Amino acid sequence: MTDTHDETFRPARRIAAIGVSEILRIGATAARLKREGRPVIVLGAGEPDFDTPENVKEAAWRAIRAGATKYTALDGTADLKAAIAEKFRRDNALDFAPEEITVGAGAKQVIHNALMATLDEGDEVILAAPYWTSYADMVAIAGGVPVPIACREENGFRLDAADLERAITPRTRWLMLNSPSNPTGSAYGEAELRPILEVLKRHKQVWLMSDEIYEHLCYGNFVFRSAVSLAPELRARTLTINGVSKSYAMTGWRIGYGAGPRELIAAMAVVQSQSTSNPCSVSQAAAVEALTGPQQVVEERRLSFQRRRDLVVDGLNAIPGITCRRPEGAFYTYSSCAGLIGRKTPSGQVIDSDTAFCRYLLEEHDVAVVPGSVFGLAPFFRISYAAAESELRNAIDRIARAAAVLQ
Ligand code: PMP
Repeated sequence: MTDTHDETFRPARRIAAIGVSEILRIGATAARLKREGRPVIVLGAGEPDFDTPENVKEAAWRAIRAGATKYTALDGTADLKAAIAEKFRRDNALDFAPEEITVGAGAKQVIHNALMATLDEGDEVILAAPYWTSYADMVAIAGGVPVPIACREENGFRLDAADLERAITPRTRWLMLNSPSNPTGSAYGEAELRPILEVLKRHKQVWLMSDEIYEHLCYGNFVFRSAVSLAPELRARTLTINGVSKSYAMTGWRIGYGAGPRELIAAMAVVQSQSTSNPCSVSQAAAVEALTGPQQVVEERRLSFQRRRDLVVDGLNAIPGITCRRPEGAFYTYSSCAGLIGRKTPSGQVIDSDTAFCRYLLEEHDVAVVPGSVFGLAPFFRISYAAAESELRNAIDRIARAAAVLQ
C-alpha cells in the first residue's frame, strides 16, 4: 500500500545514488578514537597545515574596515577578475577577458556550476581513475554519468590517450583532468598532455575541464604547463579551474575560479545566481592580495612540501609489502599495498583489500589514511603529507610496525 502522506524522509533520486563516503567514515572513526584518548595521526585531509599568509589576512581586515561587506558582482569583483587575469598572464602566458573569468565559493562550486550548466540527463563525463571522489558525485548530482578510465601505475597513474579515445561516445560532454592530481600527486608534463589534447581535438563534442588547483605545488624538475596553453585550438571548449585554497593555504575562505569561453562562463553565472550569488566579499579582497602580493611564501612552502614528500616516499618504500611512486606534485602519495593483501593481522583478521588494510591501520595502529578503492583504483592507499615532519615520521614508523606484524 502506498501512503502518499508518508512522513518518512525521501531523498531526491539524484542524491539517493550517492553513498556516504568512506572518507567521512574514516574521519568519524578517527574522531571517536581521539575522544577515547588514542593518539591518532590523521593523514586524510586535503588541506595545507600552514596558516593563511599575514598580508592576506591584513587585506581582509582592510576590506572589512573599508565597508566591503555588501553583495558584489555576481561571479567576482572587477578587482579580483583583474588579479586572476594577471595571474594567468604571469604564470601561464594566457590572456583572459573579465567575461571569460568566473569566481565561486571554492573551485568546488566552480566545477559544480560548470556541470550543472552543461549536463543533460545521461550525458557522460570521463574521469581518469583514480580521481578526486567529488568529481563522480558532482557529475551524478548534475544528472550526468561518470565514466572512469583506469590509469595504470606503470603509466604514472596518467590517462592513456588510446584508452581515452576508446571511452569517448557521442554522449561524452567533458573530460575532467586534474594535474597535479588528487589523489596520486601525478602530474602531466607537456609530453604527457600532448597526446591527450590531440585526441580531444578530433572529438569536437568533448570539452576539457582542466583542474589546475595544485599548480604551485610541483617538485624537482617537473615543469607545469596549463593544458590550454598547449592547445589554443581547444580554447573555445576548455574550462581551466584553479583557486587559492591550496597555493595560499586559504581553504576556509572559499575562493576558486575558472576561465573559459564566455558563453560557458555566462551559463555558469546563471547557476550561481540562483544558488549562492556572489562569493564572500571579504574573501574576494583577500584573494586579490594572495594573487598579486608577494609570492615568496608560496615558494617556501613548496620546498617544505617537497621535503615532506621525500620523507614519506622514502619511508614507505623501506617497508616490505608497500611500494610508493614518487609523485610530481600536490601533497599526496598513492602507495600500493598489494604486497600485504592476503596476510593476517595478529588478531586473525585477513587483509583482503585496501579498505581492510586502512581500517587495521586506524583501529590498531592509530594512523588514518584513505583506501584507494574510494578513488577508483585499488589496492592502494592515499596519504596526505600536509602535516608536520615529526608527525609524518611517527606515522611511517607506525605503518612499518603494522606491516611487520602481519603474517
Ligand atoms: N580540485 C581538487 C583536485 C581538489 O583536491 C580540491 C580540494 N580537495 C578542489 C578542487 C576544491 O578546492 P576548493 O573548493 O577549496 O577551491
